Amino acid sequence: MAVLTHNEASQKVDELRKKLDKWADDYYAKDAPVVEDAVYDKTYQELVELEEQFPDLVTADSITQRVGGEIKSDLSKVEHPVPMLSMGDVFSKDELKEFDERITKLVGHPVAYNVELKIDGLSLSLEYTNGKLTRASTRGNGRVGEDVTANAKFIKDIPQTLPEPLTTEVRGECYMEKEAFATLNAERDEKGEQVFANPRNAAAGSLRQLDARITKKRNLSTFIYTWVNPPRNITSQHQAIDEMNRLGFHTNQSGRRFESMDEVFNFIDEYTAKRNDLSYGIDGIVLKVDDLSLQSKLGNTVKVPRWEIAYKFPPEEQETVVRDIEWTV
Ligand code: NAD
Repeated sequence: MAVLTHNEASQKVDELRKKLDKWADDYYAKDAPVVEDAVYDKTYQELVELEEQFPDLVTADSITQRVGGEIKSDLSKVEHPVPMLSMGDVFSKDELKEFDERITKLVGHPVAYNVELKIDGLSLSLEYTNGKLTRASTRGNGRVGEDVTANAKFIKDIPQTLPEPLTTEVRGECYMEKEAFATLNAERDEKGEQVFANPRNAAAGSLRQLDARITKKRNLSTFIYTWVNPPRNITSQHQAIDEMNRLGFHTNQSGRRFESMDEVFNFIDEYTAKRNDLSYGIDGIVLKVDDLSLQSKLGNTVKVPRWEIAYKFPPEEQETVVRDIEWTV
């Protein structure tokens, strides 16, 4: 990167933020991205690097310091007492190794990771009171999300009642299977309606509906992977997944616990090869420190947990033709 003066850097930072804010609004609020994720990620990375070079240019409202986008829908707002955060990401195995080295240094010894598929959907929180589903909400800006309780009642794999009278919160990903996405877009195309850019945006547009009957007609699914307040006997992420599965949540069974980075890399290679054969979209692999007490010790930054990281797959050849998409920065 060319060396910039402070003035030039300040102008560039403003320019990048404007661009990213607009793209984030199209993506999060309108469910209609105008650039590919890889273009967004590259521009975001450029901003991160400039902010690292010129730390005095970092502002609290910079997109690098906040989660998601502004909420503009008419759905009621819901506060998240435990914030719903974003996730750090890396794009190479070398960077993943650096993450592992950082964790090993912070913790003082090597750790085991629960390695999961990164489902390409939108975050969903489910709250239960005495075993009954009482609230479902989107991530929104991480502190305040949208109330989608009525909509969640129409997602078949979400348990409305748990087998035990638990008062608890779980989180996961709401997504649309590739086949359901193709059917929906074909129907929309036939009616002359705008097609969705990808299954992620179709899922977001289908869940965040004021009229829950529309959600009912769309074929949405979930994978639940986070237990916000697990019982004391649950001490690891992999145990949490097993127990949530037992309680009736739809959990992804491809995740594995690994103690070495070589095993993690093999898993990445396996799913880089398999990803197109899955019935749902994944955009990477997530590494989570398996031990929940270590997760608490490592804590979070303002935007992401320190104990987890996403390895993002390299961008694929375009599979679907998307209208009105700008492919270059
Ligand atoms: P993210 O979607 O990259 O990663 C965080 C999210 O991953 C979590 O909130 C969770 O919902 C999800 N997730 C999926 N599987 C998971 C698992 N097994 N465990 C834990 N979490 C899991 O981060 P983000 O902050 O939501 O969005 C940033 C990304 O969105 C960018 O990297 C970019 O690719 C995309 N984006 C694209 C545009 C665009 O215009 N194309 C605009 C904004 C954002």
